[in-house]
Amino acid sequence: MCGIIGYTGPRKTTNVLLEGLRRLEYRGYDSAGIAVGRISGEPRLQIIKTVGKIAALQHEVPKDLEGAWGIGHTRWATHGGVTRENAHPHLDQSGKIAVVHNGIIENHRTLRILLEKKGCKFRSETDTEVIPHLISSYYEGDLLEAVLAALQHLEGTYGIAVVHADEPGRIVGARNGSPLIIGVGNGEMLLASDITAMVAYTNRVIYLNDGEVVDITKDNYSICDRHAKKLDKKIDEVSWALGAIEKTGFMHYMEKEIFEQPESIARAMSGRIDLENATAKLGGLNLTKRQLADVKRVRVIAAGTSWHAGMTGSYLLEQVARIPAQAELASELRHRNPVVENDSLWFVVSQSGETADSLYAMREVQRKGATVLGICNVVGSTIARESDGGVYVHSGPEIAVASTKAFTSQLTVFYLFTLLMARMRDMSREEGTRFANALAAVPEMVKETLNQRDHIQAIAKKYYRAKDFLYLGRGILYPIALEGALKLKEISYIHAEGYSAGEMKHGPIALISPDVPSFFLVSDDYLHDKTISNIREIKARGGPVIAVGVEGDTETQALVDDFIPVPKADPRFYPFSMVVPLQLFAYFCALELGRDIDQPRNLAKSVTVE
Ligand code: GLU
Repeated sequence: MCGIIGYTGPRKTTNVLLEGLRRLEYRGYDSAGIAVGRISGEPRLQIIKTVGKIAALQHEVPKDLEGAWGIGHTRWATHGGVTRENAHPHLDQSGKIAVVHNGIIENHRTLRILLEKKGCKFRSETDTEVIPHLISSYYEGDLLEAVLAALQHLEGTYGIAVVHADEPGRIVGARNGSPLIIGVGNGEMLLASDITAMVAYTNRVIYLNDGEVVDITKDNYSICDRHAKKLDKKIDEVSWALGAIEKTGFMHYMEKEIFEQPESIARAMSGRIDLENATAKLGGLNLTKRQLADVKRVRVIAAGTSWHAGMTGSYLLEQVARIPAQAELASELRHRNPVVENDSLWFVVSQSGETADSLYAMREVQRKGATVLGICNVVGSTIARESDGGVYVHSGPEIAVASTKAFTSQLTVFYLFTLLMARMRDMSREEGTRFANALAAVPEMVKETLNQRDHIQAIAKKYYRAKDFLYLGRGILYPIALEGALKLKEISYIHAEGYSAGEMKHGPIALISPDVPSFFLVSDDYLHDKTISNIREIKARGGPVIAVGVEGDTETQALVDDFIPVPKADPRFYPFSMVVPLQLFAYFCALELGRDIDQPRNLAKSVTVE
């Protein structure tokens, strides 16, 4: 959720830490801090913490603050209010050990009582503060040994980075449930919870697994398990260039990412459409043809926007491949003691690959014998590594908290998978070719839809003062309506509900009034006339209607107050083009309202707490 950065090497440490934290800002947080070790004179740690933005922290850091190693943190409070005292790093009694921590220490109460009895004075309300005190109680001159001893007592989730004033240039880290990655440089070393914090310095990284502990100095790293057994791990090269995490002329990351979709969708399908055989090739599934042919049911685990992608995918699988499919909310599923049938194939969808709810739900069904495939964006993430196989969506880094391009890339993967499964079942070669060609045309279709930008901005200017919105669609556009409502809520804070258009009359229609606009998604398929009837029901009650519909649909255009056309296509592919106006509408409403678009209040990019 929040972020960790550690640096040891010849560069100005405060710059690397602040720059790293700035890159982690997008994850959502409420306070931040750094600890920098001093090498000249008496060894000591210099601690600077603030509530609020990294810019505020930067302001507090003296320009001439020297130091050759240090750690930094952005906090998303779980235990204790958002105050300077509760911000990390946290210190032991002597002030020589500093710790930054992502996650939750579940047995912190018990540990706190024990440590207080031993004379430790706590300065914060956090669960985290038990860690430095505990490490200190074991410290006899070797930080790694003390950390290993302390870890034996910690229950819960953590990614930590620890420094000791008397051990210049050394950082010890440990991971259990919260991501931690080593950046291997030339004469310098980094530790971070997220690659974006270090791509400016190195593209050579090592992903830590749960239960692993790392010890770094500027020239060396060593990794061991919690019982000090040495581990050999390979270095991965990441391909994200720095440009991929800059705004490149757009006002917000979200706008940039919306406009990147023609390319990101093309990347998600690149090399994966086999036109000759009218099917799809998905290398990472790790399943034989026989195993794929035996799949009787598909179930998808996800949360938020990824859940909407999973739901769209489920509709598609049922309609096109004739495989019963269902999307499950991860946070519900994992506590439901789900039935895992042995002829089901499971997917888990998560942009970050670190979503705690999805990860735990995945582990739960795996425990019951399920085969789970991951659909993730972040390469090397926990879900990507722990799933039984999977497909990367290759959207490139998504920085805005509200997901856009990762969503359409997740959709792309479901379309590819559907083509593959359908062709192994009843779909003819001709129909497969039609489907594959329509999929290949999606980037162009999205590009054309993006041309509606100014028109959509004008519509947003007309409606942004509304307090409530309804988003309505049918069939495969129903999950897209849910996604449109979620986007509006997330970044503009306007209340919005997504509904199946057919469900309107069973309750929500009571909300309709001239102050409550409805957003309709109107396909030109077999559901067109039914959707038109729903629009009429709303118009009859004085509700304003905005419709995203197909170019040339004059009937809808004449009926509604505002119309946003998308290019005519195979109706099964409208989820791609119709979600784009909804993303832009949410963006422009938020812009009018002066919201913090890339980092909306209370939200975080990868939700690594339950
Ligand atoms: N549980 C810790 C706290 O509330 C860490 C939260 C985080 O992951 O930022 O301070």
